[in-house]
Formats: sequence, C-alpha cells, structure tokens
Amino acid sequence: MKVAVLRETASGERRVALVPEAVAKLQAAGFEVLLQSGAGDGAWLTDDSFAEAGASIVDRAEALAAADVLLMVGKPDEATISGLRKGQAIVGLLAPLTDPALATRLAQAGVTAISMDMIPRTLPRAQSMDALSSQANIAGYKAALVAAAAYGRFFPLLITAAGTARPAKVLVLGTGVAGLQAIGTARRLGAVVSAYDVRPETRAEVESLGGTFIELTSVGSAAGAGGYARALTEEERQAQQDELAGHIAAQDVVITTAQVPGRRPPLLITSHALKAMTPGSVIVDMGASELGGNVAGSRPGETIVTENGVTVIGAGSLPSTMPTAASAMYARNVSALLQYLVKDGALAIDRDDDLQAGVLITHDGRVVHPALADPAPAEPAAAPAEPATAPADSAAAPVDSAAAPADSETAPVDSAAAPADSAGGTADVDGPAH
Ligand code: NAD
Repeated sequence: MKVAVLRETASGERRVALVPEAVAKLQAAGFEVLLQSGAGDGAWLTDDSFAEAGASIVDRAEALAAADVLLMVGKPDEATISGLRKGQAIVGLLAPLTDPALATRLAQAGVTAISMDMIPRTLPRAQSMDALSSQANIAGYKAALVAAAAYGRFFPLLITAAGTARPAKVLVLGTGVAGLQAIGTARRLGAVVSAYDVRPETRAEVESLGGTFIELTSVGSAAGAGGYARALTEEERQAQQDELAGHIAAQDVVITTAQVPGRRPPLLITSHALKAMTPGSVIVDMGASELGGNVAGSRPGETIVTENGVTVIGAGSLPSTMPTAASAMYARNVSALLQYLVKDGALAIDRDDDLQAGVLITHDGRVVHPALADPAPAEPAAAPAEPATAPADSAAAPVDSAAAPADSETAPVDSAAAPADSAGGTADVDGPAH
C-alpha cells in the first residue's frame, strides 16, 4: 500500500502528517511512503531526513497520482480535491461536523474520507489514535507559555536583591485535556493556579496537578455524555457568569478552554467581568472561534487590549505553533489508525466496527457517517433508499445512514454536532487488527 504525505495548504499550518520516525515504522510494517518535497519544512523536518527513513520524495502531482491513501493534518483545499481520483482515501482532521460541505465534496469525488477528529475517544483501542487529545495537550501547554509571555510580571515567586515578586495568580476555566495541561504548565512556571469546570469530577485531576478547584454554589454539575459537558440552560449560564466574575477579578491571568461538543463555545467572561479585571491582566481564550469564544469580544488569532488594560489573546491554532512536537504526536496517531485500518495491503473498511464507523466520513461516493445524516427524508417513500452510486452532477452527495451504530444515542444533538464519541465506555481492549 502506498501512502503519501502532502504539504499542508492552510495559511499558518506548519505541521506535517508524518515524521521520519513514523515513516520508518510504517515502512517496516509494509507500507510504501511517499512525501511531497518540502512537506516537513514548516516543522524543521528536511526531505533528506524523510528519505533516510525510507520515504520517496516526490512532487505534489506524483504524490496525488500514486497514493492509495493521502495523509494530511488539516483539510484538503479545492485544488487538492480536484486532483484526487475515485477510490483513493484521505486522512486528516477534516472537521466534517462543522464543515459538512467538505464531506459532500469528498463523496462526490468518490474518495474515502477518514477524519482523525472523529475517533471515538472513549474506546480503549483508540487511545493511540486520539489526535484531539494529542493536539489539545500541546495547545494547553502553549497557552500557558503565551500567557506568561504576555504578562508583564513573573509567574514564579522571586526573591532578589532588587525586591520580591509575588507569584502570578492563574485561573484555568475548563479542565479537559487542554485545561489540565495548562494547569500543569503554569504550575511548573511557579504560578498559583486555580481552576473551574462544570464537570466537578475533574476536581481530583486539578488537585493532583497542584491546582485549587473552584466550586460554584450557583451551578451544579453539567456533565454530559461521553465525558463531555452539556450546554447550560440560560439560567445556569447567567448564574455561572455572575459568580465566576468575582473569581476572575482577583486573577492576574485567565486561560479559558471551555467547549461543548456541537455548540459554540460557552461565554464565561462577559464584558462586565472584563471591566472588573485589573490593568495588566492577561486572558488567553482557547475557545476563540468565528462563532465567538469563552471571552466577550475575543477573535481567533487576534490580540486586543481592553480600555481598562486587559490583554485578551484569542488563540489561533496553537499546535501549529509547536509544529515539530505536534507533528510527531499526530504522526503516531495517524500511523496507529492506518495500521488498524489496513489488512493485507489494502484498506479493510468495516462499518460494523465502532471505531471505523466513527472515523469513516465518506465511502463509495456517499457520505456515510451517521452524524451527518440529513434528518429530513431526502427521497420520496417509493424511491430506493440508497442509490448505488452518487450522480456525478449531484449538488449534494447522498447520505447513507444505514451504518448508524446501534447505540446512536452518541450521535450529536444538532447538525453542527459533536465528535462521534462512542460514549459507551466499551470494555473492548482489542489490539490493532494489523
Ligand atoms: P472539550 O474540549 O470538549 O471541553 C473542555 C472542557 O470544557 C471540558 O472539561 C468541559 O467540561 C469544559 N466546559 C464545557 N462547558 C463549560 C462551562 N460552561 N464552564 C466550564 N467548563 C466548561 O473536552 P476535552 O478536553 O476534549 O475532553 C473532555 C473530557 O473527555 C476529558 O477531560 C476526559 O475526561 C474525556 N476524554 C476521555 C477520553 C478517554 O476516555 N480516553 C479521551 C479524551 C477525552
């Protein structure tokens, strides 16, 4: 089987889908690896280092033409999709739930699309493939460093001949994978860290990292399915914002990481709370998105300074700012998934397998992921439920919901939906199939 690594096309993206170490392992496992020349440049990984590991260095056209499976970090752009041929597979962080049009386009191209961000994270055998966690770890670490760099004082307690600096007070809101890594990093820098999450079960993890868990009296647990949070009601949201404001005003630095699958990130720091912070305070909003973030007015990739002197940093893609580490971790995730999916030198697609049902977005010209199924019946009752092939000129590829796993309670609540977390806490400990 030939796998090809493409150079990423998104602006600011410096990661690469494989690193030389992963190439060597895949070669040993029977894969032939092609690399588009320069694909590793952004991560300081030279063509020579890939060639030494066994990769063939080719141009983009050759990579596109020769590969059975194309490996990417992000989404393919239109030029790349146009260069794909029917039957090829593409693997990347495709974000199909927030970009269903891409899934439709890939189905029309007859491409098998596999999305790394759709790995059912609670399956034990998927742990090594969990790119959301690997990249969130990097993002949380970097968020603490970005905050420390923007803060005009020290993070640690410093006693010097020129005076004593008290340690910075850092609050982390949202203590999932990224939040816990931000806590650990801020602690290692010497800050006094407190943290809050709507899932009170994270208290022990916060405390084990040396942080203090803040419990709000006005909001109870909002633990949802699959280890994620549920969205708060309007009343809960208001109460949370009001009570949090008092804690926020006492901080030097706040790092926000709160996410609810399938929703816009919850607003935790209102403009009112911002106004109560002291000049020189710093906020890093990891929830910043085009739809809005955890902080009023924040925008991804932009830094603003409020009238009262609070620096609000809307985090962009933090993993891309640590491209070598992020690529190495992503490469391990992608290699593990590849080896799981390939048997006897070919992709062995099995939609009854819960892990595969999670990651498989398009196959045989159709959008097959259950979470992307159109809730409205697309066909008249008499029409065949599943045309054999997608019409070439169809505006939208047909959606096949036949593969929905039996426990589709894990399917997202709305169309902008959640990662297809299989939520079941399955006790399956199967190793990779290949
Ligand atoms: P996430 O990125 O979806 O959310 C980040 C955090 O924001 C979560 O801890 C969430 O509870 C919190 N949050 C949401 N709304 C909030 C609000 N209004 N106020 C405060 N906090 C809010 O989460 P994630 O980091 O991707 O994963 C969340 C959890 O999923 C992890 O902590 C872990 O327990 C679980 N998980 C399990 C596995 C596994 O079983 N192997 C793998 C990955 C993640």
